[in-house]
Amino acid sequence: MTSHFIELEERYGAHNYHPLPVVLARGEGVYLWDLDGKRYLDMMSAYSAISFGHSNPRLVRALTQQANQLNLVSRAFYSDKLGPFLEKACEMFEQDRALPMNTGAEAVETALKAARKWAYKVKGVAPEQAEIIVCQNNFHGRTIAIVGMSTEAQYRDGFGPFPAGFKTIPYGDAAALEAAITQNTAAFLLEPCQGEAGIIFPPAGYLQHCAEICQQHNVLFIADEIQTGLGRTGKLLACQHENVRPDGLILGKALGGGILPVSLFLSSNEVMNVFQPGDHGSTFGGNALAATVGLEALRLLEQQGLVERSAKLGAYFLAALKRIGSPLIKEVRGKGLFIGLEVHPEKVAARDICLKLMKQGILAKDTHHTVIRFAPPLIITQEQIDVVVEAVKEVFASYPSIE
Ligand SMILES: *Cc1c(COP(=O)(O)O)cnc(C)c1O
Repeated sequence: MTSHFIELEERYGAHNYHPLPVVLARGEGVYLWDLDGKRYLDMMSAYSAISFGHSNPRLVRALTQQANQLNLVSRAFYSDKLGPFLEKACEMFEQDRALPMNTGAEAVETALKAARKWAYKVKGVAPEQAEIIVCQNNFHGRTIAIVGMSTEAQYRDGFGPFPAGFKTIPYGDAAALEAAITQNTAAFLLEPCQGEAGIIFPPAGYLQHCAEICQQHNVLFIADEIQTGLGRTGKLLACQHENVRPDGLILGKALGGGILPVSLFLSSNEVMNVFQPGDHGSTFGGNALAATVGLEALRLLEQQGLVERSAKLGAYFLAALKRIGSPLIKEVRGKGLFIGLEVHPEKVAARDICLKLMKQGILAKDTHHTVIRFAPPLIITQEQIDVVVEAVKEVFASYPSIE
């Protein structure tokens, strides 16, 4: 049966992913089960979207109750669920207003549109001249505008022409930001920690320094916290490690509780008020079902102390992985339950390690062939982390020693 379902996907699906050869049929908490009933610990969490665990009972209850009541009416009408969700999000993230979309990429597009329109209507940039500054090795999604601002050759290859108006600077270099800003700069968009690039943390003080530079030059500081937000790095937002409150904030992934695509762009009145009825929208954005799940996800995060849990267990996990000390490991880095283990690519392929971990009942995936991401659901326990660390240790020990 396993090979049957793999063959079906390979035969009828576009080959835009290269999955590990496992067919999953059930999930609960930090565990996933394949068709043969073999259990796995999930270290991938669907690229950090499963912070509350698979089929979290509270989220499933909220979902099913609401599904029986009201799902989609579109934004042509009000619902009794969207307002409370937006209010909670604005309060938690200290922003005036929020615009709901579905996927992360759509929320990033929303941020880009808001920044440009703000530049023209409020800042006074000349028509068609607005610039947005982004970082090398960024990942903000897969639409044409977004891959147009990527520096990853594969993400761009064959998809041009791309929209103009983007400038790229090195990540982690605040002086480069200051040098790149002109009178036409609308916004600086960045990930406070680069996820897909391989869990890359900027130097200490960088976020704060960049936020100051943006403020001095009347440039919006927009944080893409789709992956790093909602406690993933041990703070509610990764920007809070440096006490930065971004002018624009993008959330997604875990916001949908690992069940639905739910994303938000949040900002000030000054920015958000550039949107007039008809300027922007999405048929499913902010639907009652999505708003219900999003609100319950935010409540869970608070009520279950998951942010603090991520900080505490992340530190424990990081220290344990660092102690493994195999010559195949180049570096282990992380904040909260957002950890990257980088191998020496000339000695071992990260995918090979992931395949061996899979045999041991651990699901992890490499990014860029060299970094294995450990980003489990935030509800993971210390005992479960111990199991993962033992398995990782065994896998590295299984390679003939190379000096
Ligand atoms: C995953 C991700 C996105 C894109 O989100 P989708 O829901 O896949 O469109 C954007 N930015 C960051 C930082 C991400 O990690």
